[in-house]
Amino acid sequence: MPPPTVLIIGCGIAGPVLAILLKRKGYHPIVFEKVQALGDAGASLMLMPNGMKVLNLITPTPTILETHTPPTILWHGTASGHTLGKSPIPRTYKERYSQPAMGIKRTALNLHLKQTLLDNNIPLYEGYNLHDIQEHPSTNTVTAYFTNGESLSGSFLIGCDGIKSSTRNILLAKTGVKEGPPTFTGLMQIAGLSKRSESLRERGVSGMCNWYGAGAHVIAYPVSSTGDVSWAVTLSGRETEETWRAVSGGEELERRKGLLREKLAGFEDGVREMVEGAQRIISYGLFDRAEMRAEQWFSGRCVLVGDAAHPTSPHLGQGANQAFEDCYHLSRLLPDLTAEGADWPAVEAGLEGIFREFAELRQPRTAALVKEARHIGEQRVVLGGPELCRERDARIVAAWSDQEAVAEGLDRLYREPF
Ligand SMILES: Cc1cc2nc3c(=O)[nH]c(=O)nc-3n(C[C@H](O)[C@H](O)[C@H](O)COP(=O)(O)OP(=O)(O)OC[C@H]3O[C@@H](n4cnc5c(N)ncnc54)[C@H](O)[C@@H]3O)c2cc1C
Repeated sequence: MPPPTVLIIGCGIAGPVLAILLKRKGYHPIVFEKVQALGDAGASLMLMPNGMKVLNLITPTPTILETHTPPTILWHGTASGHTLGKSPIPRTYKERYSQPAMGIKRTALNLHLKQTLLDNNIPLYEGYNLHDIQEHPSTNTVTAYFTNGESLSGSFLIGCDGIKSSTRNILLAKTGVKEGPPTFTGLMQIAGLSKRSESLRERGVSGMCNWYGAGAHVIAYPVSSTGDVSWAVTLSGRETEETWRAVSGGEELERRKGLLREKLAGFEDGVREMVEGAQRIISYGLFDRAEMRAEQWFSGRCVLVGDAAHPTSPHLGQGANQAFEDCYHLSRLLPDLTAEGADWPAVEAGLEGIFREFAELRQPRTAALVKEARHIGEQRVVLGGPELCRERDARIVAAWSDQEAVAEGLDRLYREPF
């Protein structure tokens, strides 16, 4: 019997990872990506140990780490550079969780995953934008329809198509729920890539750094082993600022730097140098969505994974890491068809039950993290004057003065998914 075809929608993070894990278990995945040719994908990501563990299953992380520098400290401080909290705990991640954290440019990660997908001889159809899904109980198949007029059938479909997921939209519409666009969180980011400035290096800040100002928050972390630092300034903003358009020169770059100069007036020199040094800047609004119930994550032959199921704002740095966790659990729950006596018709009869188990396992954790990320964002960008800033700073001092509690908080995230 030929292996069951799995239609995977989206070649961001979850799509290729899941495709590779499922191919190893005897499935025949095909990945569809709406973008014609994957390329420049904007900002950077911090992969935490929980995500790195899953990445390591498909591509050994030591090879990627050769060109990346794991952060060595977590540092939190005021805009002017006064330390509020500091921990060397990232140095212990490998020992505690088997993997370090790693900052990486999103484009580099996406292209790496795409290449690994192709190296595993998994078909990738680019320029395929999903617009409809039909499930056919009589033939045990599901058909995906694309805006280019093409369609393809398979045994089941996994929606890995991100925050604006068409799969999610289509599944919800079939249950009578009409969903609008993602929810704007009221915050925006302006982000860039620079060389670590000398003054920050001198101060010994070589890790993941957070500066908290009045109405502005800055995060920076290394994304290469050659001193490249990814930074993002979070501000309150308007919904229309979700352009994701990178600006790498000319008047628009200067305009964005001018805005940042104004917003970062009270920040220490190293931060302002870092921003001034960027050759390329992007700005975008920050969005999430209200949680869905576990039973809305799947239908008979379709299931949602990653941002398609639980889109989040980035303040906790867990969106991609949770997408990795989803991939691990869904592939773990789907039986290994290469095992002795494995029988697809028997597996197929219980497919919806597998999706249910997956959704019920993952929904509570991801829903809580989406809420936590939104809350962290609101706490970071304080708009109400110096007293509120002082209260926020005092909370940070209190939170980081108990290193055991810090470690326990991180355990909750990074001890998963195995
Ligand atoms: C600024 C920012 C910073 C972030 N930083 C971090 C971080 O440090 N750590 C972290 O863990 N997470 C971070 N995240 C979150 C993280 O980016 C997402 O959670 C993660 O990319 C989700 O992976 P995914 O595979 O589910 O979706 P995506 O990576 O969004 O991939 C979805 C793919 O589906 C494709 N697609 C969409 N619609 C269709 C369609 N109709 N048909 C076919 N293909 C389609 C898209 O083109 C895309 O390639 C950040 C997010 C933002 C916005």
